Amino acid sequence: MARILVTGGAGYIGSHTRYFLEKSGHSVVVVDDLSRGFKQAVPDGALHQVDTRDTAKLTSLMRQERIEAVIHFAAYISVGESTQRPELYFSNNVCGSLSLFEAMLEAQVKCLVFSSTAAAYGIPAKVPILEDEPYAPINPYGESKVMVEKILEWLDRYREFRSIRLRYFNACGAEPQSGLGERHDPETHLIPLMLRAIQTGKPVTLFGDDYPTPDGTCIRDYIHVSDLAQAHIVAIEHLLGGGKSDVFNVGTGAGQSVKQVLAAVEKVTGKKVPHTIGPRREGDPPSLVADSRKLQNVLGWRPERANLEQIVADAWAFAQNVTA
Ligand code: UDP
Repeated sequence: MARILVTGGAGYIGSHTRYFLEKSGHSVVVVDDLSRGFKQAVPDGALHQVDTRDTAKLTSLMRQERIEAVIHFAAYISVGESTQRPELYFSNNVCGSLSLFEAMLEAQVKCLVFSSTAAAYGIPAKVPILEDEPYAPINPYGESKVMVEKILEWLDRYREFRSIRLRYFNACGAEPQSGLGERHDPETHLIPLMLRAIQTGKPVTLFGDDYPTPDGTCIRDYIHVSDLAQAHIVAIEHLLGGGKSDVFNVGTGAGQSVKQVLAAVEKVTGKKVPHTIGPRREGDPPSLVADSRKLQNVLGWRPERANLEQIVADAWAFAQNVTA
């Protein structure tokens, strides 16, 4: 069992991964600057409020806590915001990551799992998407993740710094046992916004119904956050066991349209989702679906909660608790 540093552990995917790491017997130290995360998502005593750009603090923390490996989530994630303030994204996501890697090298920690994104592919030529699809980001958020992926490729080549890059598709749902769930401020993601529309009566806007897809709305690959968390655990255990650097998509392989998500939300909640149809959102590719067979074949991971209604039910249980 290892001592693992989780950056961004007060965020949505980071907090779920911390929860499952501890369940698997690992010991976890969380770093989060709380600029976007929630203190309540981290158990008392585990949280260190540090900006990832503070290399010296990270180095001494890793030495003090005898850290053996790092899972790096800390980043800004909003595509829209990244087009308004690209500098913020390059500073936090790229400079923050580089600072963390320098601290790791200084502290002799050379195993990292990095949270990357399907946004690295931009508008892919082929769907389902394989990992060898070229980098083609179409917004500063995606570019910031690609820049870090490239830094990691060079560190692997020249510094024996091993890393697994996980390219997530659409994380959603919540782990019912954990009390954790999806909270962003502002919220921009489809499922929480649909649930909120039910709770508040304020309609959610569906961004475009004239895409070249069967029902005209965008198709995405919705992956349960607990399955995503498990992918990090198999990845870090692979590296701790001496495994080599690699990159993997993390999705279910099944695409769902915005209208199919709406139908699932209505079925699970038994309520109508107030909604309007609006224009397309800039930078939204028509269809993003992962080919995740590599992760299944190489690391033995399987999505166990791929059922959309299950995902929505878990998200709904959390949303009802939050407002209660
Ligand atoms: N979407 C929508 N209305 C919203 C938010 C999202 O129609 O208020 C659509 C969006 O265009 C995309 C899908 O829902 O096709 C998933 O978007 P989300 O922002 O959840 O994740 P993304 O795919 O951008 O990572």
